[in-house]
Amino acid sequence: MHQMTLAEIARGLADKKFSSEELTKVLLARITQLDPQLNSFISLTEELALEQAKAADARRANGENGALLGAPIAHKDLFCTQGIRTSCGSKMLDNFKAPYDATVVSKLAAAGTVTLGKTNMDEFAMGSANESSWYGAVKNPWNLEHVPGGSSGGSAAAVAARLLPAATATDTGGSIRQPAAFTNLTGLKPTYGRVSRWGMIAYASSLDQGGPLARTAEDCAILLQGMAGFDPNDSTSIDEPVPDYAAGLNGSLQGLRIGVPKEYFGAGLDPRIADLIQNSIKELQKLGAVIKEISLPNMQHAIPAYYVIAPAEASSNLSRFDGVRFGHRCEDPKNLEDLYKRSRGEGFGPEVQRRIMVGAYALSAGYYDAYYLKAQKIRRLVKNDFMAAFNEVDIILGPTTPNPAWKLGAKNSDPVAAYLEDVYTITANLAGLPGLSMPAGFVDGLPVGVQLLAPYFQEGRLLNVAHQYQLNTDWHTRTPTGF
Ligand code: GLN
Repeated sequence: MHQMTLAEIARGLADKKFSSEELTKVLLARITQLDPQLNSFISLTEELALEQAKAADARRANGENGALLGAPIAHKDLFCTQGIRTSCGSKMLDNFKAPYDATVVSKLAAAGTVTLGKTNMDEFAMGSANESSWYGAVKNPWNLEHVPGGSSGGSAAAVAARLLPAATATDTGGSIRQPAAFTNLTGLKPTYGRVSRWGMIAYASSLDQGGPLARTAEDCAILLQGMAGFDPNDSTSIDEPVPDYAAGLNGSLQGLRIGVPKEYFGAGLDPRIADLIQNSIKELQKLGAVIKEISLPNMQHAIPAYYVIAPAEASSNLSRFDGVRFGHRCEDPKNLEDLYKRSRGEGFGPEVQRRIMVGAYALSAGYYDAYYLKAQKIRRLVKNDFMAAFNEVDIILGPTTPNPAWKLGAKNSDPVAAYLEDVYTITANLAGLPGLSMPAGFVDGLPVGVQLLAPYFQEGRLLNVAHQYQLNTDWHTRTPTGF
């Protein structure tokens, strides 16, 4: 039962092969049995899950249908869930029970999803390895000595290990696509503004975007359908009609113009990954796509710009966690300053503290023009590169990551080494574009992802290309040994 995709579950429920309650019990038992190896959950919500499953079964018995009605999922632990701990992977929020549901959570609940729990993540979504979590590192089910990627490492490891079919995640600089690549999943970062950020604990507000992590493009389409749409509670949400993503999966790729940026294949890319990307290009050519070399000349400046903008926004967003308004409060403060210092010093881990300091520095008077303003100018140049490229091509293709998943602890003493691994993913966030990662093969038994980028609001195009690719390849069907 645990091998089923969301699409298969929807068919099975519609055909009354099993109930959502039965499936939910199987998956909860599987999580209890296998998750101790992975640490992919921060909280399990058994009671809520069984309640929601029974309610979904009752709705189906009343003749209702729907691709998500009765579908078990989990939420990354930065989506607020009413009455349930929402920790953001931090000691700071270890005892925070959200007073309301995030829009993504309430929309999916209304569509009939069953919430099995809240997944582990890098603290405040800062990281690429899921090692900065206060709740401990998450292991990669493909090799338990390796990281699953981050920051949505819990969602990725759980879905890859078949503990559940799909999960929500968020992507500020790659946190959906990179863990998808590291664990052989399909993950989609939507256009900025496509999915509401209301009730999603902020890391860098101009970059954050929620999206689906699943095993197939078809399942990403199903989950995105339940997440996307205008929300008046989020001032950056965009009032664009949401297409029927599942209905758009059968388009031909004949004549599809795929741009391959020459800058993607420079030094730093594992040559074995380069070969796998070439294979996926050939596969898409067989389906009728036309390949064109393009250039994204400002790509080299993206990492420094991102690692100024993201910490700058984080330093501002995280100022609310002061032990008074929100978050952990230290014992016996001597005075107000002591309360602030010790509450924040105890509540935030080292990576979060590092980024708050970098961000506060970049924003401070005297440095603002040199760092923050400069980074914003680079951001515009990165966007302009994409706009020029999309005049010539329909999608852009390349590797999701320069290397496969590294060993746990391998980059702990060198944060910049980890930042450099984000080279292919962060540009989509700087420009606000949608991006998808899908399985493209293996290197030393570890999964490799291929990334597709599209113009604004062309999530449907990404999903269609990925679905056609998955109809003709079987990388996405491979299961990690032991799961
Ligand atoms: N690895 C990037 C960072 O640490 C991206 C994280 C994310 O997308 N949340 O900022």
